[in-house]
Amino acid sequence: MKPAPFNYHAPSTTEEAVGLLAELGSQGRILAGGQSLFQLMNFRVVKPENLIDINPVSELDYIRVDDGTLAIGARTRQSALERSTEAARHSPLIVEAVKNVAHPSVRNRGTVGGSVAYADPASELPAVVLTSGGEVVLTGADGQRTLSAGDFFRGPYTNACSPDELLTEVRLPRWPDGTGHAFLEFQRKHGSYALVGTAVLVHLDGESIDRVAISLCGVDQTPVRASRAEDLVRGNVPSDGLFEEAAAEATSDLHPLPDVKGSAAYRLKLARVYVRRALELAVSRAKGERP
Ligand SMILES: Cc1cc2nc3c(=O)[nH]c(=O)nc-3n(C[C@H](O)[C@H](O)[C@H](O)COP(=O)(O)OP(=O)(O)OC[C@H]3O[C@@H](n4cnc5c(N)ncnc54)[C@H](O)[C@@H]3O)c2cc1C
Repeated sequence: MKPAPFNYHAPSTTEEAVGLLAELGSQGRILAGGQSLFQLMNFRVVKPENLIDINPVSELDYIRVDDGTLAIGARTRQSALERSTEAARHSPLIVEAVKNVAHPSVRNRGTVGGSVAYADPASELPAVVLTSGGEVVLTGADGQRTLSAGDFFRGPYTNACSPDELLTEVRLPRWPDGTGHAFLEFQRKHGSYALVGTAVLVHLDGESIDRVAISLCGVDQTPVRASRAEDLVRGNVPSDGLFEEAAAEATSDLHPLPDVKGSAAYRLKLARVYVRRALELAVSRAKGERP
């Protein structure tokens, strides 16, 4: 199928893009990498009257560290993030995760802001932003606001962005030196969406875990932070028993949507295994045992 007819707008600055959003309201739709949007348009699931193409907005293409926070412009390609030494130093978790997004050809066009804004519950990057305690910056005609990832993801493909707002930046705070990370996921074949994915950050104080964050994707309506499992782990010495208990807790209150790729029960079983493995890997990295 071909998309329904639409008007095409190509602003060259954030201000122009936001001005168009204010003018067009719900009749306007942002086009970033087009890797999700074009599919929806071609099948006429969505029929936007106006496309606002932010590809010419080069000021939204950056990866930099501001005040200890990794700031990623919304138009930054996923492949640029994958290759960024700045990002690898600051947040090896997001670099490990982005390599699981589709194939290189998709990552060459797909943007970081597009992936986060699309809010697919199975996506890798939203789960990483949630795990890291990250934030998103939304820019509208009346100025900017910053939301925590927990407040941004509202449901499947639903976020807290108003129709007149553009997601302009994704921000990840720096975790302490020595933090171990792990992003692991189960895909039916290389490059497919994850059936289940998990992101973990762990910091040790001596023998015990003093900071931990665990999130999952593909197992509920949004990416999910496993706060009760984190509480169980924090303050304890890592052990196989502790990882197993935490994995059981992390998956005790999830509501995966069954589909042709797997039943809800299958996804829950996978999630339990992947949380345990990710905790093991993150702790072994925190101890310097694995790269
Ligand atoms: C074959 C294939 C496999 C894929 N596999 C995966 C996968 O494994 N994991 C994964 O996470 N993704 C996967 N994707 C999706 C891909 O990562 C997309 O890049 C991503 O979902 C959307 O990013 P985009 O820049 O292409 O956004 P677009 O498709 O251009 O936009 C997506 C939506 O977000 C909105 N939007 C985009 N940018 C902004 C912004 N700055 N502010 C406000 N709204 C905005 C658009 O209006 C649209 O509604 C796959 C895609 C394909 C084609």
